[in-house]
Amino acid sequence: MNVYKFGGASVKNAAGVRNLLDIVTGEKELFIIVSAMGKTTNALEGVFTAMQQGDKELAMRLIDEIYTCHRTIINDLMGADVTIGRVDAFFEELRNIVLETIYHESDAELWYDTIVAFGELISTTIISNYLNVNGVANCWVDMRRAFLTEQLHKNASVNIEASEMLLKREIADSPVSVFVGQGFIGSAPDGTITTLGREGSDYSAAIVANVLDADSMVVWKDVDGILNADPKKFPEAKKIERLNYMDTIEMSYSGAQIIHPKTIKHLKQKNIPLYVRSFSNKHATGSVITGDVERTYETFMTHKDNVVLLKLHLIDLSYMLEEMFARLFAIFDNHRIHINLVHNTAVDIYIAVDSSWHIDDVVSELMATGLDVDKQENVEIITIRHYDDEIYRQYDLDENIIIKQVSPQSIRIVRKK
Ligand code: ASP
Ligand code: MG
Repeated sequence: MNVYKFGGASVKNAAGVRNLLDIVTGEKELFIIVSAMGKTTNALEGVFTAMQQGDKELAMRLIDEIYTCHRTIINDLMGADVTIGRVDAFFEELRNIVLETIYHESDAELWYDTIVAFGELISTTIISNYLNVNGVANCWVDMRRAFLTEQLHKNASVNIEASEMLLKREIADSPVSVFVGQGFIGSAPDGTITTLGREGSDYSAAIVANVLDADSMVVWKDVDGILNADPKKFPEAKKIERLNYMDTIEMSYSGAQIIHPKTIKHLKQKNIPLYVRSFSNKHATGSVITGDVERTYETFMTHKDNVVLLKLHLIDLSYMLEEMFARLFAIFDNHRIHINLVHNTAVDIYIAVDSSWHIDDVVSELMATGLDVDKQENVEIITIRHYDDEIYRQYDLDENIIIKQVSPQSIRIVRKK
């Protein structure tokens, strides 16, 4: 069994879906994980925001726009006279949720997940249908039934043991051995839909690969493979042929768009190679990530945006730093705020975290423990792994740098944007 993952960009239009058909045609044992088409998840976030603001009219208008996008793709692929009953039913269900929900802010994350999950439910339904009528007989898998997550919305982790049983049960009676399932979604123990964090489809694919003991996982992307920097920021970025799990984990943790940070662990556990290949050039080799590659000494640069820097100042200088660390990390952990970088002096602690809906709750709790908190929003983290002298010097004179951490392997910088 192989696992293929197609991100939103690769299925953003009919040409993308035809290309997917071309790539999977002839495969015998395959689990295909698909994201929402194009920018659908962002558009659904807009629907949620409109619902949150009580503007049902706007929410309905946005749903109509999303419907039109998908309808255009279906028309192009299958003809304007074809309707896919299940797609229409999903849109109907989405409209009903928006119209009938009595929204309470305390359930914001539940409704966020409920709404954005439709992107993947709809994309996989269209793709599964299209493949079925074009010679790739496949079984649509409802990942809400296959993945049991923790009871947490918007950024849930999958319970692997339970999901192994559930997923195997979902596919056990299938007469065919090609499957199409949604990335990014699952269900909580209370039966509500959960999502796994933005860009979480890679993580879904890795869990499927892990529990089904796949031979490989392939991520089909709009780049030729893994590059050593973001080509939009560094035009001289170049492709890396082979990479090991550790470098990949480090780089995705620091914000590289290679692969979702939660992915690698599940592949490494079963020693499953991960290929990153270009969906517009299926014959190109792409990049491969495995356990048996020597460390690459290639320089890697990553940028991470959507970062908030909190500067905590100990007002009462008598605090024990260890005790303070224990208390304050517990606050971040309780709110599931992802910490990227920590830097401290005797009386100041800098913590760079992913931006989150809960930052202000964290700030209030930190202040209640007797800390002065300064929140700075417009910052980025730059990580350079396996740097050289020239790169080191480039960051010597940058006045926007707030923190610079240097180790023999890497430089990590927090700077104002
Ligand atoms: N559709 C989701 C997102 O855009 C998940 C993914 O693409 O991996 O975040
Ligand atoms: Mg996406």
